[in-house]
This record gives sequence, structure tokens and C-alpha cells, in this order.
Amino acid sequence: MYLKDKIPSHFHQIFVDLLEIEIPYEKIATCKECTLCVHEKSPYQKIKCCNYYPRVANFLVGGIIQDENLKFGKEIIENLIEKKIGVSPFGIFPDLLYTKRKNAFTERISINHVKKDIIPLICPFMKNEMCTVWDYRENLCVTYFCSSISGKFGVQFWEELNSFIRISEIKISKYCMKKLRYKEDDISLFYKEVNNFDLQNKNGTLNKKKYNKIWNNWLLKEMEYYSKCYEIYKDLEYNEFKKIFGKDYLVVLNSLKLKSKEFLKNVFPEKVIINSKATLKIDKNTVTFFLGSSQLVLDHSSYFFFKLFNGINNTIDVEKKALSFFLSINNYIEDALNKNILLNANTLITE
Ligand code: SF4
Ligand code: SF4
Repeated sequence: MYLKDKIPSHFHQIFVDLLEIEIPYEKIATCKECTLCVHEKSPYQKIKCCNYYPRVANFLVGGIIQDENLKFGKEIIENLIEKKIGVSPFGIFPDLLYTKRKNAFTERISINHVKKDIIPLICPFMKNEMCTVWDYRENLCVTYFCSSISGKFGVQFWEELNSFIRISEIKISKYCMKKLRYKEDDISLFYKEVNNFDLQNKNGTLNKKKYNKIWNNWLLKEMEYYSKCYEIYKDLEYNEFKKIFGKDYLVVLNSLKLKSKEFLKNVFPEKVIINSKATLKIDKNTVTFFLGSSQLVLDHSSYFFFKLFNGINNTIDVEKKALSFFLSINNYIEDALNKNILLNANTLITE
């Protein structure tokens, strides 16, 4: 497939150089049949990995507002603006209290994933189990895959693409602000303030003084402001976008193209088998494979799934099974292939 099939269509006018970059299908992270929701009692049922608050840039907020098909998304934005939390001229971002909840969750997350911890983190743009802003979703919502078919090569590609889109979103949102007569110095200062949650008091309530100052002439006209940002963005041409992105544009683009080649080249074999020459040592906490001077150390849970590599099971099915227990063995697959502890079963049969 090509990136044009993955990147939201409104971006096509400016991401011209990205559209024909070829990538493999991500067959493990099949979001319609989410790996986190395989079990009936999974705490991620109906949530998937949308326990995340996106940072929706101003022009994307405007895109949602003007889109007749995204009425729910527009209602959610109206509601957030009414509460004035996380709402700034840069866009709609996670607020202080959400960020604290998320940080606490990230610190204590282990194998115990519990629904009561996940529910308070559900994305505000999710309604009736659906994303209400899909066509205007932000960088991470475009590029996140819980596991890649090419292991670290896929992860690196998606991270780089994510960074490219995120930087573009930030630069375009600032460009829109300038067009709407914010001064360059104010934009830099306000950006720091918004990211420090200065528009909120420590208990999460609104700091009205800061909010009024940052919105200035646009105060109480936030919806109109976001719509104008979208109009400015729609008039943005490819060459102008490259100028906005700055001198690193070609460097980032070339790096992305190189990473896409690695991504394509390193797709996991369809079926793999544990090398019969490898020996095994099982300890209390770990399981170690030895082959020549190479070793591979696994924890017992990962070994439970690793044993399924018998040349019959599909590689992606085994990783999917592990993910359904909130465990990824992708790194082990990759390491084991490099050390010949896992072998491509199809090549063995042909030989
Ligand atoms: S990226 Fe993974 S966890 Fe998220 S929806 Fe897709 S399959 Fe589910
Ligand atoms: S914006 Fe959509 S895809 Fe992104 S986290 Fe929210 S519901 Fe999920």
C-alpha cells in the first residue's frame, strides 16, 4: 500500500511528496478486530487504544466544525469550548487534570489493566464507541500501531512519520495564528504557557485572566476563530507549506523514504520455526536459548507464546495472541531471527 491510503485526504494537498511512499500492510494491528479486545472481558472492549487525549491543532478543529458529516464531533467541540478547558488558539489539547490522570496511569500500568483506570482516560472525541473526528484525527491517531509487521523497522518508520505530521501540525497552527494577527513574540510565549497549563489553576479550574488574554480579540468567538484557521489552511499551497516546514524538510523526507524501504524489506516471514540446533535453559525467572555464541533471554510469559513458533502457526497470529494478553513478543522475534534462533519455515521447506 501507499501512504496516500493512510494519510487523511485533507493532508494530500500539502503532503504531496509523501503520497507515493510504499509501505507494507500492518497485518498485526488490525484495528477493526482490535488485538486488545479479543477477550470478552478485556477492559479495552469498546475503547480499543483510544484511552488517549489527542492534541487537535486549530485548523483541524476548524475542519471538524465545517464538515457536515461530523456533527457529533462539532457538538463535542462546542461543549469543550463552553467549558473552556484545554481550549487555546493553538487548538484543543489535553487539560491539566487529564494529563495528571494519564501520567498516574502510565506509571502504574503493568500486566494488570483495569477498566476503572481506563474509563477516565477515554478520548473526549469518542462517542458510541466511534471516533467522531476520524477524517481530522491528529498525528498519533494517524500513525499509531500497537505492533508492526516489520518489528522495530516499522516502529521507526511510524515514529518518524508521526514526528513529521506533528511538526507540520504545530507549524501550520502557528502560521494560521500569524495570519489571524497574533504577533510572533506572543505566539512563542503563549505556546509555552499553553503547554505549561497556565490557562488553568492548580486545581484544574480556569484561569480566566490568562484565558482572556490569550484569546484577546477572539474571546467568545472561538468557533469562528477555528473555522478561519481551516480556511487559511485550505488555501495553503504545497510550496508555501515546504517553506513553513523549514530547512529540514528534505532531510526529514529523505529519512522517511529510507525508513520505508527498511520497513518493506524487513517484514516478518509468514511462518517461523525454532532452530532445532538451539539449546534451552529454563531458570526460575527466565528462559534462555543458546546457539553458538548467541543467546536469547526471555521471560516465562513471552516464552509461553514463543514456543508456538513451530513452522505451522502464522507468525502474526502468535504475536496477536500475545497482544490479546497485553504482551508483545515482536522484539524477541526480531532478535531471534537475527541470531538464527528462529528460522523462516518457508525457506527451510524450499531448501
Ligand atoms: S492500534 Fe492496536 S490496540 Fe489500537 S485499535 Fe489498532 S489493533 Fe487495537
Ligand atoms: S481522536 Fe479518534 S482515533 Fe484519536 S483517540 Fe480519539 S477517538 Fe481515538
